[in-house]
Amino acid sequence: MTRLVDVPGMAALLRQVGVAPFMRELAARIRADYLRWPAFEKSARLASHSPIGVIELMPVADAARYAFKYVNGHPGNTVLGLPTVMAFGVLADVATGYPRLMSELTLTTAMRTAATSVVAAAALARPGATSMALIGNGAQSEFQALAFHDMLGIEEVRLFDVDRQATAKLLRNLAHAAPTLRTVVAESTAAAVRGADIVTTVTADKAYATIVTPDMIEAGMHLNAVGGDCPGKTEIHPAVLRQARIVVEYEPQSRIEGDIQQLPADFPVVELWQVLAGREPGRESPRQVTVFDSVGFALEDYSVLCLVEELAEKHGIGAELPLIATGCDPKDLYAVALGKDGATLREAA
Ligand code: NAD
Repeated sequence: MTRLVDVPGMAALLRQVGVAPFMRELAARIRADYLRWPAFEKSARLASHSPIGVIELMPVADAARYAFKYVNGHPGNTVLGLPTVMAFGVLADVATGYPRLMSELTLTTAMRTAATSVVAAAALARPGATSMALIGNGAQSEFQALAFHDMLGIEEVRLFDVDRQATAKLLRNLAHAAPTLRTVVAESTAAAVRGADIVTTVTADKAYATIVTPDMIEAGMHLNAVGGDCPGKTEIHPAVLRQARIVVEYEPQSRIEGDIQQLPADFPVVELWQVLAGREPGRESPRQVTVFDSVGFALEDYSVLCLVEELAEKHGIGAELPLIATGCDPKDLYAVALGKDGATLREAA
């Protein structure tokens, strides 16, 4: 049987494990999987674009497991009562192709994105960073704030969103989830960014947006640029990128989708795994401006699917889904079509 972890199942799992501990374990898994980089079969995701959104398929595999995610990005969805980003995915056995797990990946995408941001920031932000601007206070934002507070020692977040209700929602949730985290509501992106050690941009607009401009940049800042993740969808002014050390997840995909799509194809960038493996330095000096140009890579979904499978089994979460016909003669698919197994048909004959 295939284990199904749906949204209520994932929420039940998170109630048992806790969101912050889940992201802590996940960050360790993502880091460990990035360090196994050569072991994975990798490709840029396959995107189907429309004028108002994108639908993507994200496959990755190592010798034991194959994973894929279905995910969309429709910034106009929230007015329809739908999330901007919605996802589900599958973890399968490479040896047989059998799908072991089918899971919701909307919640888990938010957690794996935040965990990956922290893994990158640990190598790129100034040591001792305590403040973070958080621009874009939608669905991803709580997870970013919690992960940076819990794992990187961020004590203050400065919030800005063009939608004040989104910021009010984030304030409410953070008061509940992280009462020791100081929150400051800013009147503009520039006000939020001023004096911040880290700047996280997690806005949604299918446009060449310039959320962060050169006049906002201070020496030593780290930018965690999460929302620019699609052709024609950016957040960081190219002049900011040109003065920074840029780290990406998987260069062939990031050249197409990341904020670096605005730069010449040969502009130097470094892949995250190289930094984590010590092949390339992370931050090179206290005054250097660093950018993690995050777009989301399939490897992170592989990490989270493996973790969900383990935890779901441990905590007895999820339903058994008869997705594949088993327990019958594998050559007698016709019997399955009749709603019977081969033995029953033979008896009836
Ligand atoms: P969301 O729609 O729930 O929230 C986005 C927020 O950005 C909204 O509240 C909106 O009002 C705000 N916003 C839009 N333009 C703004 C601006 N100019 N200034 C300030 N705020 C602005 O979306 P979400 O699920 O939180 O996702 C946010 C972004 O992150 C999306 O672009 C999504 O594609 C991207 N994302 C990236 C990854 C990754 O791995 N890099 C993963 C998930 C989502």
